Amino acid sequence: MRKPPTRLAAELVSHRREFILAGASLSVLPWTNKVAKSAIFSPPRFDLNPFTLGVASGEPEPDGMVLWTRLAPRPLEGGGLPPEIYEVTWELASDDQMRNVVQRGKELATPQLGHSVHVEVHGLPPDRWYWYRFTCGDAQSSIGRTRTTPAIDVMPDRFRFAFASCQSYEQGLFTCYDHLQREDLDLVVHLGDYIYEYGGKDKQVRRHTEGEIESLDDYRNRYAQYRTDEHLQAAHARFPWLVVWDDHEVDNNYANDISEEKSVDREALLLRRANAYQAFYESMPLRKFSLPTGPDLQLYRRARYGRLANFEILDTRQYRTDQPSGDGKKPLLEGAFDPKATLLGDTQERWLMSGLLQSTAQWNILAQQVMMARVDLKAGEESLFSMDQWPGYDVARKRLLKFIADRRVPNPVVLTGDIHSNWVNDLKVDFNYPDDPTVATEFVGTSISSSGNGIDEPKGLNDLLSENPFVKFHNAQRGYVSCEVTPESWRSDYQIVEYVDRPGAPLVTRASFIVENGHPGAERV
Ligand code: FE
Ligand code: CA
Repeated sequence: MRKPPTRLAAELVSHRREFILAGASLSVLPWTNKVAKSAIFSPPRFDLNPFTLGVASGEPEPDGMVLWTRLAPRPLEGGGLPPEIYEVTWELASDDQMRNVVQRGKELATPQLGHSVHVEVHGLPPDRWYWYRFTCGDAQSSIGRTRTTPAIDVMPDRFRFAFASCQSYEQGLFTCYDHLQREDLDLVVHLGDYIYEYGGKDKQVRRHTEGEIESLDDYRNRYAQYRTDEHLQAAHARFPWLVVWDDHEVDNNYANDISEEKSVDREALLLRRANAYQAFYESMPLRKFSLPTGPDLQLYRRARYGRLANFEILDTRQYRTDQPSGDGKKPLLEGAFDPKATLLGDTQERWLMSGLLQSTAQWNILAQQVMMARVDLKAGEESLFSMDQWPGYDVARKRLLKFIADRRVPNPVVLTGDIHSNWVNDLKVDFNYPDDPTVATEFVGTSISSSGNGIDEPKGLNDLLSENPFVKFHNAQRGYVSCEVTPESWRSDYQIVEYVDRPGAPLVTRASFIVENGHPGAERV
């Protein structure tokens, strides 16, 4: 027989409540009466709209999600608020007019975190749409839409999401997001290069403000410049997102604490990384789990969509060893076969493997940055491989794919960004034997805008395809990939636009691929 709850347990609960309340008021004390009066107890009046960066949501779970905004009346000038604490009210409703509010609460927007707001909502029923907005003083945000995921023990009939990456503000318009936000999706996954760190250049489609970014304020302003784009803002307001970074959120092709430039020492890169990671946290709908601690921020994590799909969201930048052979495109030399080389780091790799062992999902998705297939990028006798991608870390790549094959991980699908081009690849443990069984399917999605308009069939496409028989498709236009997942099959639609140097490009489904349950490898529709 089970005992009734003891008095002690009840006391613990009430003590916990008191502790939380005490903690909440303590956190206000150091700022004394000035803050209390000016910011918390008398509601602020704004001359300029503080909600210029819109709203966003992310990290959806069966019982809640993260709601995000950041107060920034002067978004390109460090935000524009005095260093005080602001109280922000949030509301979550079951209708798009916000008539039926099901939860509301208050969060404090602090100057240390750039007046960003991260609300972790809990206690909601699964698999439902919600609408939300924020109020601060006399200002109110626009309304965003978000949803909870299905309960973890339920097998949903269907799940739709899109994945995107690489959105240089200078090199093209975000037309793709205007199309994406009109799609019928449950989720958006961003695989990195959300911003670029470079200084403003002439003769581009748009211009970055200021030079190459380094300080916390620089990174804040850069995220703000991107987020003021109406199409990007609309796509955030329309769906919950899962975000992960690549290199340009800090600096091109950095590896852990090693800069691409030999003249930059590790301490200097880590200082810059701390600024960059904090601005990323402030700008994204992330959980407090991902709060930065100095130059570290844990971004690898797991997201579930009932029993249908697991996302293993991977970080291939923060823990990797340096690129071999001096980076770039190189033949496969000794460095690429270094048994100590790693893209994930030991801790993340073990976490990933144990997650795959425990998974009860029909589709097991590795959402990550760099191409896993060992693609020879050079036509003809000579062979060149990207040292920044998995081919530069051959032992680690083989170890992971062999693990997936040996343990019979159900339906592994790898999602990739980074290289501003579309690829569909059959993944092999040993690419020297193209007739070996395919162990997983890789969908590489092109950029939203990086590299400009692009081309449908890059030069030497036929040679590239014949020298890499595991590559099923390649294209170098701008776009994103829409996926429909059911218990029986996976469908990827490669959505492209023909230009991003002027507005209004229509959306074209350039190619579609299906993976059948139990049969790794994609077939063209
Ligand atoms: Fe990129
Ligand atoms: Ca990249």
